[in-house]
Amino acid sequence: MSISSDKLQYLIHDPNLDSDLKAIAQKVMKQERITFDEGVLLYEKGELSYLGVLANYIREQRHGNKTYFNRNFHIEPTNLCVYDCKFCSYSRLIKQKEEGWAYTMEEMMDIVKQYDEQPVTEVHIVGGVLPQYDLDFYANLFTNIKKHRSDLHVKALTPVEYHYIFKKAKIEYAEGMKRMKEAGLESIPGGGAEIFHPEIREQIAKDKCTGEQWLAIHEEWHKLGMRSNATMLYGHIESFWHRVDHMEQLRRLQDRTVGFQTFIPLKFRNQDNQMSDVPEVNVIEDLRNYAIARIYLDNFDHIKSYWAMIGRNTAQLSLAFGVDDIDGTIDDTTKIYSMAGSEEQNPAMSTKELVDLIKQVGRHPIERDTLYKVVQDYQDYEFPEENKPKYYALPVINS
Ligand code: SF4
Repeated sequence: MSISSDKLQYLIHDPNLDSDLKAIAQKVMKQERITFDEGVLLYEKGELSYLGVLANYIREQRHGNKTYFNRNFHIEPTNLCVYDCKFCSYSRLIKQKEEGWAYTMEEMMDIVKQYDEQPVTEVHIVGGVLPQYDLDFYANLFTNIKKHRSDLHVKALTPVEYHYIFKKAKIEYAEGMKRMKEAGLESIPGGGAEIFHPEIREQIAKDKCTGEQWLAIHEEWHKLGMRSNATMLYGHIESFWHRVDHMEQLRRLQDRTVGFQTFIPLKFRNQDNQMSDVPEVNVIEDLRNYAIARIYLDNFDHIKSYWAMIGRNTAQLSLAFGVDDIDGTIDDTTKIYSMAGSEEQNPAMSTKELVDLIKQVGRHPIERDTLYKVVQDYQDYEFPEENKPKYYALPVINS
């Protein structure tokens, strides 16, 4: 029996454990699904140590000590946006355009070309929403990238952009996603999900696609046999049950399509946005949230944390609370984290540093591609001496 299994057994036999929590622990041991009410109960009553035992048991049943990361780079076409999400520290409304950027097709292709000699497997494209970045623009961008470098996996845009560009092009979601796939799109990141429930969404992100529309676009994409990720922005004005409702909707869609790969909880940061008066949650709540996500989303393979957003130490800790994917080598060309007040204002980590970070907490580092195919197993890998201080210029972002 493994240590994580021993710990779960010990917990189940603890005479002082609340009977409802004991029943949930027994379900986890028997690999049974927990209910919505049990999810809320975990948030209300589950202490960190209890949640850690359950989540780590699930994590080690699924992945052992394996901890994944990938090497990608990031293109943020613009930080100007027609929307005005209250939590967003990144975008500038069009009237503030002197503070923004908006890359042309050529400029974006120049960014792609900068990575020609780098061992990256993925380009991640996400940014603000502007009318000039329409369906034809993005279709051409995806096609141009694939023509330039066919081995680069194009992971791009969220339902926020897709809903906007399909509406503008007057086409249905199914037709739009088919067009994107034909143009070269290979997967969709998890952004734009925020909190699905309208009670919260209308207060923090009222004009962009609804929760139903977000889910519908992913469903159309999954119907094409393609994969995507999902996020949740937590720790602001939502209640615990809104988080469970969010995960419940994802779990139901995943039951139908099995198209999601990874769930990524994103911590609300309060710097330089319209919700600066809302306090941020503490690290205990971050870890509890990872653990509950691992327990609740029994049909998701992976739970990911972003070291650039939560800091290196919390990212290491998260690997004991259900997380098995810790994203990635990065440089400071992605501004989404730092502009929101993340722990790492100038995030930069070499592959070796990331591998060491994972090994320091007894986990087994594996570089993966976007679809979790193993690129390099680093467990017994010896880095060449000359590469030790080398930094790759590799930005990466949610999902
Ligand atoms: S979160 Fe996205 S859609 Fe909302 S304002 Fe920021 S860039 Fe625009």
